[in-house]
Amino acid sequence: MNVRTAVSDERQAAEIAQPVAWHALPADAVLARLETSDEGLDLDEAKRRLERYGPNQLPAPRPRHPVLRFLAQFNNTLIYFLLSAAVVAAIIGHVVDAGVIVGVVLVNAIVGFIQEGRAEEALNAIRDMIAPHARVLRGGRQHDADARAIVPGDVVLMEAGDKAPADIRLLRARNLKVDEAILTGESVPAEKEERPTGTDAALGDRHSMVFSGTLLATGQATGIVVATGSGTEIGRISTMIGGIRTLETPLLVQINRFGRIFTLVAMTTAAALMAFAMLVHAYPWADALMIVVALAVGVVPEGLPAVITITLAIGVRRMARRNAVVRRLPAVETLGAVSVICSDKTGTLTKNEMTARRIATSDGESLVSGSGYAPEGAIGEDDTPPNRSETELVRSALLCNDAQLVEADGRWSVLGDPMEGALVTLAMKAGLHPETERSSWARMDEIPFDAQHRFMATLNRDPAGGGRIFVKGAPERVLAMCARQAASNAGATEGGETELDAAYWRRRIAAAAANGERVLGFAAAVAPAALERLAFEDVETGLVFLGIVGFIDPPREEAMAAVADCRSAGIAVKMITGDHVDTAAAIARQLAIAHDPRAMTGAEIDAVPDAELGAVVEAVSVFARTSPEHKLRIVRALQNNGHVVAMTGDGVNDAPSLKQADVGIAMGRKGTEAAKEAAEMVLVDDNFASIVAAVHEGRTVFDNIRKVISWTVPTNGGETICVVLAILLGLALPMSPVQILWINMILTVTLGLVLAFEPAEPNVMRRPPRGRNAPLVTGFLAWRILFVSILFTIGVFGIFEYAMRSGQGERVARTMVVNTLVVMEIFYLFNVRYLHMTSFNLKGVLGTPAVLGAIGVVVAAQLAFTYAPFMHALFESAPVAIGDGAVIIAIGVVTMLVLEAEKALMRRMGALRPADT
Ligand code: ATP
Repeated sequence: MNVRTAVSDERQAAEIAQPVAWHALPADAVLARLETSDEGLDLDEAKRRLERYGPNQLPAPRPRHPVLRFLAQFNNTLIYFLLSAAVVAAIIGHVVDAGVIVGVVLVNAIVGFIQEGRAEEALNAIRDMIAPHARVLRGGRQHDADARAIVPGDVVLMEAGDKAPADIRLLRARNLKVDEAILTGESVPAEKEERPTGTDAALGDRHSMVFSGTLLATGQATGIVVATGSGTEIGRISTMIGGIRTLETPLLVQINRFGRIFTLVAMTTAAALMAFAMLVHAYPWADALMIVVALAVGVVPEGLPAVITITLAIGVRRMARRNAVVRRLPAVETLGAVSVICSDKTGTLTKNEMTARRIATSDGESLVSGSGYAPEGAIGEDDTPPNRSETELVRSALLCNDAQLVEADGRWSVLGDPMEGALVTLAMKAGLHPETERSSWARMDEIPFDAQHRFMATLNRDPAGGGRIFVKGAPERVLAMCARQAASNAGATEGGETELDAAYWRRRIAAAAANGERVLGFAAAVAPAALERLAFEDVETGLVFLGIVGFIDPPREEAMAAVADCRSAGIAVKMITGDHVDTAAAIARQLAIAHDPRAMTGAEIDAVPDAELGAVVEAVSVFARTSPEHKLRIVRALQNNGHVVAMTGDGVNDAPSLKQADVGIAMGRKGTEAAKEAAEMVLVDDNFASIVAAVHEGRTVFDNIRKVISWTVPTNGGETICVVLAILLGLALPMSPVQILWINMILTVTLGLVLAFEPAEPNVMRRPPRGRNAPLVTGFLAWRILFVSILFTIGVFGIFEYAMRSGQGERVARTMVVNTLVVMEIFYLFNVRYLHMTSFNLKGVLGTPAVLGAIGVVVAAQLAFTYAPFMHALFESAPVAIGDGAVIIAIGVVTMLVLEAEKALMRRMGALRPADT
């Protein structure tokens, strides 16, 4: 142990034994005790402390012991039944049968164990993709840090929607309310402020503290980290939460419930048949019992739930690869049924790479050259410096602004809001130096931007010692705060002001917005020198309007393609944005969201009663200047119309609509933790195209589950019909119980699994979404299962009769039956891989490497089954002549042809409507 750890251990031990009452200490004392300053730790010290205190995370819940996980595989009614059958078989002398049954149960458990492990691994791997981040000050600069790297002494910046990354003593709080329900159970957000509390204050009353894991409901805060990881309040009471914890989805629950009922019915029927066989056909009870075992074994698709679980897990992994991280597994199923996607505009449909393109003051308008964040370009003509009004405007844009530009290897990028970054670039193009301006116009206070009030304001000390207020925000909002405007021309008063010409500005705003530009308005006012705190009353009226800036934020190219995909997939796209209605409509037109998109503002939505909103939301595709409440109404109205709605959100107030939507989607980059928590899915790249990719994967998953079912169940159906018929008619069983088990096992763990990995069918995004309540097994699929079961039965009895008549005896006949069923399944697999179109295409015939590999395994297993002496002993199989092998393959080919003919016929009759196949 080195000295430093020894010291830290002592110190930690001391702190644990006698916890410091951080909440009661004045801020200065907290800084001093933690040996830090309000500029934060320097980078080296942060690194040292990380080594000393360890990562800021809670201990992960202990995973279930592998042995327990393995044993859990046996906890299933059917397995109990199989094991009891094995015991009975052993008692009555069928020792080999008993051994095989136990062997098969073991294989089933091993496969289940491995698949479950892989599914969990897939889910754990994506957890890291959405690990929380935090903004920290280190060495006086802002950093975006992984929340796990935060250490005591770090200075953290937080705002509404953030989740506190550690226990934090506030240094500064503005309008701060924190939802502490996870700690105190109190659902009303607690008000916070930096003043220390009494030493004895209870947890819920420590208003100078923000505790790890709690959510900031409103406001902004800066604070110093006092405890991390398991040293935090939440760390004392719980281990890690979050991520995906369950593999259960409604679909799996439904299938498991179905499986249980099915098993019970099968057992009861089997018992009735046993009685029938003994009473009517006078079977000896031991034989009758083995028949019942055969039936029960044949009827239950034992591998199905495991294959479906892995299909879902693969879906989750594929989605993650396409930047959509599913937080709740049921979303995988729901995504496939989405019929409307409601999307934000900025950053999702557009690039969120802003460039200030136009600047308009009362003197006129100038275009700005250059693109991106590099400060290269100029306002207006290259060789004329910006005029006074423009410089005034640009200065206010630089000061009422929290963004920083950083340059690395000649590339400029933004720390903070991209639009604010573009304003810093603009200021540099106008010849202003950000650092110099910001230090000579020190900021005293601010009202942070909030989507609700749509502006931001700052109070600055001017170089001469006076006070100035700067405001920027949605232009019509800022106009409403102004009575006068800045002017340098004739008619101006001495201070350079004239009456506000609102009509002039509205024209300017409309012209820029119609171009698809995002527009901001700017205003300023002189403040009393003594003013130290900025309140809403200080900015509501009496400001001087400085002008507007228009930004271009080009649509994402991939979003355009994704919108087109949605159109062909029958999915409506609605843009719901906080931006100006004309800007939104122009971007919607560029993206071809609708031919001539109808647009509406939040205020207009307010005027529509609920009863009429249903029709409105169908017809309108752009909703602008909306607030989170509008989003909630829109989702509800769409859902009332029967839609399955996916909705994006990023702000703290979006949580209700994200929860209401069938698939709530949070932005990974610009989304708040509050939004991520409420969402089913998180987009790592904030990109609309990733939503559509996830829908594509969701549809594929659902298709594959249907394929797995419609491929697996007929095997059981065929086997069951054969056994029942044999008993009713008093015939010899065409397969023994262990042979039935062999077929089920060998097929499920090979070909059944392959279906879970199937790629999407080519037309997956060219058909309408499935209905909200469309059943998993549709009329067509039910028919399909019955039809294929009957085909299998014909095949089984046909080959059995053929073999018996040619005098080959029961062992050979049964071996041929097993081979025939397997071969028919192989051919049926090719048919089922394309549920919606013919399988006679090059890709279909060639299969995938996975399909071919699995077929190779099955063929090898069947050859062993048929020709290996040890298999003869285990399964009572016997070698089959080459000519008979050819007959078996011919049966497979005929099966394929019949099924393709049936698919074509169904398509022609219209029974195979894409929506419900
Ligand atoms: P979307 O919902 O598509 O993401 P948005 O980003 O335009 O839209 P908000 O962030 O709610 O929506 O912004 C609404 C309006 O508020 C913007 O159109 C702009 O006029 C103004 N605004 C946005 N960010 C700021 C900011 N940092 N400072 C001042 N005003 C802002």
